Amino acid sequence: MKSFLYVPEGSDFTIHNLPFGIFKGGDRIAACSRIGDVVIDLGMAVTTGIFDTLNLPQGIFENRYLNPFISLGKPQTGGVRLLLQSGLCEGGLLDNDIYRESRIFLPAEDVEMLLPLEIGDYTDFYSSREHATNVGIMFRDPANALLPNWLHLPVGYHGRASSIVVSGTDIKRPSGQTMPEGADKPVFGPTRQLDFELEMAFVIGRNTHMGSSISAHDAEHYIFGCMLFNDWSARDIQKWEYVPLGPFLAKNFASTVSPWIVTLEALEPFRVPGPVQEPAVLPYLEYEGNKNYDIHLTVEIENEAGLSKTVSNSNFKYMYWNMCQQLAHHTVNGCNVRVGDLMASGTISGPESGSYGSMLEICWKGTRPVVMPDGSERRFILDGDTVRMRGWCEKDGIRVGFGPCDGKILP
Ligand code: CA
Repeated sequence: MKSFLYVPEGSDFTIHNLPFGIFKGGDRIAACSRIGDVVIDLGMAVTTGIFDTLNLPQGIFENRYLNPFISLGKPQTGGVRLLLQSGLCEGGLLDNDIYRESRIFLPAEDVEMLLPLEIGDYTDFYSSREHATNVGIMFRDPANALLPNWLHLPVGYHGRASSIVVSGTDIKRPSGQTMPEGADKPVFGPTRQLDFELEMAFVIGRNTHMGSSISAHDAEHYIFGCMLFNDWSARDIQKWEYVPLGPFLAKNFASTVSPWIVTLEALEPFRVPGPVQEPAVLPYLEYEGNKNYDIHLTVEIENEAGLSKTVSNSNFKYMYWNMCQQLAHHTVNGCNVRVGDLMASGTISGPESGSYGSMLEICWKGTRPVVMPDGSERRFILDGDTVRMRGWCEKDGIRVGFGPCDGKILP
């Protein structure tokens, strides 16, 4: 498969990807896809007749969010992706000088990518065994790092959807209440321990009714695709507030997502087995086949001067609990889900210190600071720093990536 459009070496956006997003160019806002450095205006593409066999509703690409499109279901959304794929190949329907000069194809640098989803609810899991173990060792008992429930269920909590922003949005350093070491009363002020959490999020693609459950076996039918996710966290605020109900203001001030939703279909070639789950899980969490995905993940910190350092090389394949188990667990009590809901993995840490997914772990509670190229040290994220996350799959010459998940911290 080769496109008539140029795809630079190492691009996240090959003919094998074709993710979905929402762009703004001038006054126009519409659904789009991308190949190489070209954004494809799907609202314009539909006028060529390329999707006629799918009988799509009029104006389905002319919405501020992708929710109505996703709600069509996989036969149609997957159909759009496949028809676009063949249309973009050499000799395909869009390989025509008339279209090349049209407003279907836009230089990516000329458009702004918007948050593509109206996110009703956001849930954050805690599904990396390495991350949960590291946190347990640092804050509790090294001998019993994992709490007794951890190997039996995908631990999670309900996060806040209102403060999820698209890559490129600046984040204001949050203030809050903390209890300084050795003090006898709390103080108020800007967090001194601002951290990132390297996560993947999946997008719900189908509504369910309250009282019904999604089985681990069927879960993939309810997952539209995945995005990179940075669950910004204020560790000092978290440490003081989280007992007994878990994170609150330490997490709800901001989360950053990448602008593109990479479909499960595009991720299909990159399935890998997950870790062996021992003890055996309860029947409703059992699954068959390969439900983990081999997605390389990196985190880079860039200072105000533009000097950067890669602080993590991780992989989504390390997850102990997979997305199907998370969704089965989330709905096993009858909790309904809605199109556009976001479910994040929890911090993704690998086995070695170079693959940890938060500064808390990378610097091991501040004891092993990261040295930046200018010689300055980082234990947490400073004002003026930009945190850049990237994710991509690569196998047999096929590459599928997620685009940027970046956020800069302002005072
Ligand atoms: Ca998190």
